[in-house]
Amino acid sequence: MTQSLTIESQFRLGVFVAGAFALAGLYAALGFVGFDSVAFAQPAATPLKSLQIYFVDVEGGQATLFVTPAGQSLLIDTGWPGNNGRDAGRIVAAAHDAGINKIDFVLITHYHDDHVGGAPQLAERIPIGAFVDHGENRETTDEVTQKRWLAYQRLLSTGKYKRIIAKPGDTLPIKGISAEIISSDGAVLQKTLPGAGQPNPACASSPQPPDDKTENPRSLGTLISFGKLKILDLGDLTADKERELMCPVDKIGHVDIYIASHHGFNQSGSAALVHAITPRVAIVDNGATKGGSPSALDIIKSSPNLAALWQLHFSEEAGTAHNTAPEFIANPSGPDAANYLKLTANPDGSFSVFNSRSKQSQQYSAGR
Ligand SMILES: [Zn+2]
Repeated sequence: MTQSLTIESQFRLGVFVAGAFALAGLYAALGFVGFDSVAFAQPAATPLKSLQIYFVDVEGGQATLFVTPAGQSLLIDTGWPGNNGRDAGRIVAAAHDAGINKIDFVLITHYHDDHVGGAPQLAERIPIGAFVDHGENRETTDEVTQKRWLAYQRLLSTGKYKRIIAKPGDTLPIKGISAEIISSDGAVLQKTLPGAGQPNPACASSPQPPDDKTENPRSLGTLISFGKLKILDLGDLTADKERELMCPVDKIGHVDIYIASHHGFNQSGSAALVHAITPRVAIVDNGATKGGSPSALDIIKSSPNLAALWQLHFSEEAGTAHNTAPEFIANPSGPDAANYLKLTANPDGSFSVFNSRSKQSQQYSAGR
């Protein structure tokens, strides 16, 4: 990933320093068409008007970095601990690629290893403004979860960081986007969002799952709005909570981009959620052997209005029958290359998704 990021940074820098579209044209002639159309379109002195979202490969954990046009940043989760700071290093590389040297808000969806685990290592590598979370750890009987929670508490006890405990209906104070809390600590949004409130026919075909007793249903879920675009991230929220949100009436309504819940595991991402929010694009932060369940991928692929399913990894469990097409996968089978996906969103509702492996971007036009 570092290498890919470096290449993209150098490329963008080259365009900016030259300040001439002639050079951009030269790059285009060399085969970089669609490589990063935003960089082409923006002169050096003008701040980007787009929202950048990096889907950092943390091997089946989550680390999603949002950088707003106002230069503010929100990181949803910090990946795994250990590995000599592997995940923290990948997040910092994404931040630097986006041109930021500080992360304003780090949102911890819940206290599992693959979400909060990387927080102490990240804090050693880049300044952080505030942490946002759902409150106390509710899975104290799980040894690893309790250990990560205590490490997070030690980080907060340094006094260096503001802490925000968010509840459904709250809006995070981030400039340039609206980030509304949908779920937190087992509670879900009670009101119906504007444009939603329709009866949800997918409830009939989504069985009522048993209540999940782990930290997953406690996940801090967020709906991010940017111009006309809506982006939904519910962390590892499980299907029992999806029913509370979506049945019998859909409280969320349509979204453009669905960051697939729970890495595409089949305990989450029921049709009651996915077929009601009808995303245009879904992005799954799975690993090669974590997440990406065949049935969960199938539910996404059969969703009405879906233009594309993207995945951070080829899912070994799902095989070629259930995985998305190879061009939409950042990391195919084989040695891990830490390739990332980057979504660049425009206020008019258009956006593109860049695959750092292929260096290709796919464009999506405004509107549904
Ligand atoms: Zn997870």
